[in-house]
Amino acid sequence: MACGYQMMRHAMHSEMARMNPAFAALDARHAPDGDADLETDFSTFKVLDCPRCRGILKPQVVYYGDVVPPARRLAAQAALQQADAVLAVGTSLMVYSGYRFCRDAHAMGLPVASLSLGVTRADEFLTHQWRAPLTPVLEQAVACLKSA
Ligand SMILES: [Zn+2]
Repeated sequence: MACGYQMMRHAMHSEMARMNPAFAALDARHAPDGDADLETDFSTFKVLDCPRCRGILKPQVVYYGDVVPPARRLAAQAALQQADAVLAVGTSLMVYSGYRFCRDAHAMGLPVASLSLGVTRADEFLTHQWRAPLTPVLEQAVACLKSA
């Protein structure tokens, strides 16, 4: 977070597994929100420091409460201007940064669709909504696209 150093996720995963072999052997259940459910004591877990500055490493994702990096937000807004529709996948859109794109698409007259298990903040202007588990639906979609 301090020096801008970046590494690929799989490289970080490999290093963290090497540092924590007992944890690497555990099997966690995937939670619907992308987390993993693992009931264990994490007090001995070793976290990888930045190889360059020994500071904190953070995945390049936007967490709850984070601000979407301006360049990423502008790129998404530019993509929306070129879009024929918006499909929100696996999100309740309760976070404003995601909701905003659906709201803007609706204001532009674009179809707005959602694939998720529950209600979304954008339900009032969804033109299509599928409440279904993501994995089987997306696997079927990929299979359809491959055979097309
Ligand atoms: Zn660093």
